[in-house]
Amino acid sequence: MTCPYCQGEMTKGYIQCRDGVYWTPDRALVSALSGIKKGAVPLRNDPEHTSNTAVAYFCQRCRKVMIDIK
Ligand SMILES: [Zn+2]
Repeated sequence: MTCPYCQGEMTKGYIQCRDGVYWTPDRALVSALSGIKKGAVPLRNDPEHTSNTAVAYFCQRCRKVMIDIK
């Protein structure tokens, strides 16, 4: 994947969490995240793995991470 900021090549990797990976509009205690909150967007996007994995691309130069979600 090409970085949209510097046009350099991004490195493929993974973001993982035991209880799933979500974007949420509000900050919550991590211990409360196991119950999915209203407005939470699951970031899982890797059909070869369980719901606790998101494929992500990292730009070392810009210090940015990009995730394509379903
Ligand atoms: Zn970049």
